[in-house]
Amino acid sequence: MFRKSFTFRGGVHPRENKFRTEHLAIESLPIPGQVVIPLLQHIGTPAEPIVRKGDRVKVGQLIGEAKKFVSVPIHASLGGIVVVVEPRPHPLGIDVLSVVIDRDETDQMPAFSKDPEWKTLSVEEMKFRILQSGIVGMGGAGFPTHVKLSPPPDKKIDRLIINGAECEPYLTSDHRMMIEQTDEILGGVRILGKILNVKEIIIGIEANKQDALKRFRKKTAGLKKIQVFVLRVKYPQGGEKQLIKAVTGREVPSGGLPMDVGCIVQNVGTAQAVYEAVCYRKPLIERVVTVTGPGVIRPGNIRVRIGTPIREIIAFCGGLAEPAAKLVHGGPMMGISQYTDTVPVIKGTSGILVLDKKTANQPPEKPCISCARCVDVCPMRLMPNRIATLVEYAQHEAARLQGLFDCMECGSCSFICPARRNLVQYIKLGKAVCTNNTKIAS
Ligand code: SF4
Ligand code: SF4
Repeated sequence: MFRKSFTFRGGVHPRENKFRTEHLAIESLPIPGQVVIPLLQHIGTPAEPIVRKGDRVKVGQLIGEAKKFVSVPIHASLGGIVVVVEPRPHPLGIDVLSVVIDRDETDQMPAFSKDPEWKTLSVEEMKFRILQSGIVGMGGAGFPTHVKLSPPPDKKIDRLIINGAECEPYLTSDHRMMIEQTDEILGGVRILGKILNVKEIIIGIEANKQDALKRFRKKTAGLKKIQVFVLRVKYPQGGEKQLIKAVTGREVPSGGLPMDVGCIVQNVGTAQAVYEAVCYRKPLIERVVTVTGPGVIRPGNIRVRIGTPIREIIAFCGGLAEPAAKLVHGGPMMGISQYTDTVPVIKGTSGILVLDKKTANQPPEKPCISCARCVDVCPMRLMPNRIATLVEYAQHEAARLQGLFDCMECGSCSFICPARRNLVQYIKLGKAVCTNNTKIAS
């Protein structure tokens, strides 16, 4: 048992609910008959399709080109025929232009052999392979990794922080990868450290993953540059700003980025994908997803091809159990409820959660009782009650001045509120209104 643990101010302690899948080894989903691959799976500009209906594609083939710096290319995860390129439902709740591929007899995963010369690659060559492979942050945010690895010259980066917190309740895909793919993750960590030329690399893992902590401590013993930190179990411990505060004591300023305090944060899954991209030239065409919750018959940690419809993965997990009431893409705190199970797995899909009526149905909202519990737990030191009320009364500019855009939408305020105020929903609404007003004005 590791005794000293690091954390941040605020946060909440929802039930972890990881017991269903934390001990289950990663399984592979049988190859799907069809994949739906959205051309937007990242923050930034969507990729542009370079295939048409009727084209035959191979696994790993480029099907969407990145035309802007803040964008990534998209690759076929299945070998077969492109049946249509059209908008399809996306886990973000919108329709996104997607390439639909039907599998045929030519489907075969390439051998992706290790490049014996990879250690001789320059920093720019490694970054180019990461870009070409379409790597994005796999913890859910989907920020293009090559962009994060290209800070402006005036931002001196001295710490690389590897995020192994996995603080979202229910989810265990990162945990299982840390146990089963430790060497690959550490290979990616070394590559990221070399690219950023940092003095220190910190791997942060929550204390509820003792087996992963032990593995990483053992594998990094004697390495001066890499340290493994035990993080206190608290939500949102894996938020970038909270993680930086916990392990370095540095505070990212309002409206700022981790690079403003000399830090870059990467998720453990991203490190593994970086390793495969640089050493094997493997594009990001599959990932591990936790399928869990009381509404799934056989929960598990499943490796799936990007673009696989969620419906197929749930079927592989035995289908829906009797109490199934709500389908969530991601975890219960930051995940997005889905109206259809045809949405595909994207690069940022860490979990598929099926809740039952008891957990899905929230009691009705009541008036605020001014208890300030939401203020106490807000990890961004905001006043969620005030911001939400301002949005409710269409005082959007006042809400912005109260730090509307500093909110990371962690949901801690809504979770703790005894009046069940839909605080985070008001805040999301306020951001959308302000963003649209800015667009209209410009
Ligand atoms: S206001 Fe935003 S950052 Fe603060 S607790 Fe609520 S959702 Fe999280
Ligand atoms: S926690 Fe809920 S009831 Fe308490 S101050 Fe915040 S919004 Fe009001």
